[in-house]
Amino acid sequence: MMSVPGGHVHGTASGRQSMAEHAAAYARAGLRVLPLNWPTSAGCSCGHADCPSPGKHPLTRSGKDDASTDIRKIAAWWTCWPEANIGLRPADGVVVLDVDPRAGGAKRLAELLAACGVELPPTQTANTGGGGIHAWYQCPAPYRGHLCEGVDIKSSTGYVVAPPSMHASGRRYSWATQAEISVAPNWLRKLVRRPAVAPPPDGTKIAGSGTDGLVRTVASATEGGRNKALHWAACRATERGAPVVLLDQLRAAARSIGLSEQEIERTIRSALNSARSVA
Ligand SMILES: [Zn+2]
Repeated sequence: MMSVPGGHVHGTASGRQSMAEHAAAYARAGLRVLPLNWPTSAGCSCGHADCPSPGKHPLTRSGKDDASTDIRKIAAWWTCWPEANIGLRPADGVVVLDVDPRAGGAKRLAELLAACGVELPPTQTANTGGGGIHAWYQCPAPYRGHLCEGVDIKSSTGYVVAPPSMHASGRRYSWATQAEISVAPNWLRKLVRRPAVAPPPDGTKIAGSGTDGLVRTVASATEGGRNKALHWAACRATERGAPVVLLDQLRAAARSIGLSEQEIERTIRSALNSARSVA
């Protein structure tokens, strides 16, 4: 099943339909399709024993740049490669959250959502054959590359493997819901979109916006500006998915300038909460 912004299109359940028919259905719905290699008993149809991405990389010379809605071109591809997996390039203004549980994505995402007191809104969602999910949302660019550890953000500049492609595990990708692609709420936009770096609060001397810079900004804050510096740095950390390691580094820096444990936790919690309140 699938849907696209502005139009809700239902296909027929997979099983009897060929990959060619599925690919054509996506194209008719306006999605750009590309043929991908497929898993084989030897690993990957590309024939490389040590293929790093079995069943997931493009078959055509220009890869994702060959993606097309041209029904004849698509028919020719799947005549040539009837078993080819299906890659889809999301439309402009659409992101796909690619949650990979093997990379810790499901756990980190759950922790992040719990810390912000929010849940992912229902939307068009695929189960990947590898135990993960692809959740599609409408959200304007520009985007970050990752929402948090193990959760990549895919968009029109890339592609996703689509149902009913075969995963290297031997299981097929499948649509988990027939929902339309939901509009990302503001808190999710804040996590997905690449922000203009927020200006620092008055009196805070910024030592850089990289990980080291955030830690140094806190470590060099002076009396009167310590909480503001920690809050600013924790907000920037939240925008990067609130990595546990980075938050712990900020806590240590805050302790080194004399902030109490209570002040530190209150300030970091406030930064995490701000993720759901900012447009
Ligand atoms: Zn391969």
